[in-house]
Amino acid sequence: MKQIGHWINGALVAGNSGRTADVFNPATGEVQAKVALASKAELDAAVADAAEAQIKWGATNPQRRARVMMELVRLINRDMDKLAEALSSEHGKTFPDAKGDIQRGLEVIEFCIGAPHLLKGEFTDSAGPGIDMYSLRQPVGVAAGITPFNFPAMIPLWKMGPALAAGNAFILKPSERDPSVPLMLAALCKEAGLPDGVLQVINGDKEAVDAILDNDTIQAIGFVGSTPIAQYIYGRGCANGKRVQCFGGAKNHMIIMPDADMDLAADALVGAGYGAAGERCMAISVAVPVGDKTADALIERLIPRIEKLKVGPWTAGNDVDYGPVVTAAAKANILRLVQTGVDQGAKLVVDGRDFSLQGYEDGFFVGPHLFDNVTPDMDIYKHEIFGPVLSTVRTQSYEEALKLAMDHEYGNGTAIFTRDGDTARDFANRINVGMIGINVPIPVPLAYHTFGGWKKSVFGDLNQHGPDAFRFYTRTKTVTARWPSGIKEGSAFNFKAMD
Ligand code: NAD
Repeated sequence: MKQIGHWINGALVAGNSGRTADVFNPATGEVQAKVALASKAELDAAVADAAEAQIKWGATNPQRRARVMMELVRLINRDMDKLAEALSSEHGKTFPDAKGDIQRGLEVIEFCIGAPHLLKGEFTDSAGPGIDMYSLRQPVGVAAGITPFNFPAMIPLWKMGPALAAGNAFILKPSERDPSVPLMLAALCKEAGLPDGVLQVINGDKEAVDAILDNDTIQAIGFVGSTPIAQYIYGRGCANGKRVQCFGGAKNHMIIMPDADMDLAADALVGAGYGAAGERCMAISVAVPVGDKTADALIERLIPRIEKLKVGPWTAGNDVDYGPVVTAAAKANILRLVQTGVDQGAKLVVDGRDFSLQGYEDGFFVGPHLFDNVTPDMDIYKHEIFGPVLSTVRTQSYEEALKLAMDHEYGNGTAIFTRDGDTARDFANRINVGMIGINVPIPVPLAYHTFGGWKKSVFGDLNQHGPDAFRFYTRTKTVTARWPSGIKEGSAFNFKAMD
């Protein structure tokens, strides 16, 4: 059985905690590897080495650090297929989708090539008589990232790129469900010129996470995952005096106005609802048609499109629209929630419960589901399902649709489909959600903007990637400097204006 360890001080090392977790092939249901789960002692030792390595890395000039990012871009492109294969085989997503996962992470590394510009700081000449004032952006020291299973390349790259380019050492604790790609990325960082110890990849579960939260050397923690864990990490990390940002779960609504292009809306919903088996924090999981005529027209278009979806293993190449979900437990949870939808009175218009794939009967495949007549009190509306299940909530007016989305506890992404600029503009201005699509179903911002939700989809301040990431991974220091020039003032006992 393949054993997966950690990446420590520039090399793959086996774990020594004696604890491991199974890594599955989600398409067959087989255990394909065992991943080591780090102990607190292993985590603390890796952090101590990282702190040592950070001293020289932090003092390396920003342009040299940016060159490592530049080389990393080349190497990731070189190994794109190899990385995507490893990613698909552990996560289950299709090969093109795995490449997309890597590509969206790569774009943040490209953005990090411009880090010297973002780290420049500020300078005021002659802030007072003979006095200059300047602000420095310095690395926080050792930072850590705790990442989810659903984007095993993109989110580790979103975290490590800005942290490293800003001069920090970085401890990455990826998801134990698909740990191989982060280790491959660490090896590419070394090949790109990153000094040993500056990036440590520690595999593990709650024990490793708690060790990160309690480690005194770690100054900043970026987390992405489900909301209950986000809330826990934010609370414990902040209580320990760290800078913490946590991105949590989602329930993204797409509002379809009566004037929308219905075919465009139906195509968008199928891609955004069922792509990656619905395992995206930016997936659309709630369709909100305005008016019964709109709802009927939409459902009529959705059914044949959904029934045509091809579900299968990533090895089937471009013939597959989406693959299995990540674990048997994830599949069971999705089917449990679907059953609550039926029991609580929603209308299951497309029923994927009996889906089975010949030759892959033990794989974690879930057929597509479409619900109509869902109401806000139902479990399938309230909870994130994270599977190929789309719920339709019928509304009778734009205001009712807007209020519905605003009242939901999550606020990651949302979209409106309309031909009316006035409505679209009003929606973008009033909705309490972080990322908005106008006739765009999955509005993931590009690397040079920032990514983040509102409400229970986020805990803490500042977004991911873009300029915010450099603010998060740096600390400001402001220097007031006067070089002796013969001015004699005596002692000053009060604050006073410099001029
Ligand atoms: P998860 O919360 O189960 O795990 C995320 C990380 O936390 C993993 O590294 C895991 O090892 C660790 N973890 C799990 N349980 C823990 C515990 N009890 N104590 C300490 N650490 C623990 O999330 P997941 O299932 O891997 O990912 C899916 C979730 O992530 C979904 O809710 C999805 O919406 C969310 N997500 C959010 C964003 C965003 O930017 N808002 C992006 C991607 C995914």
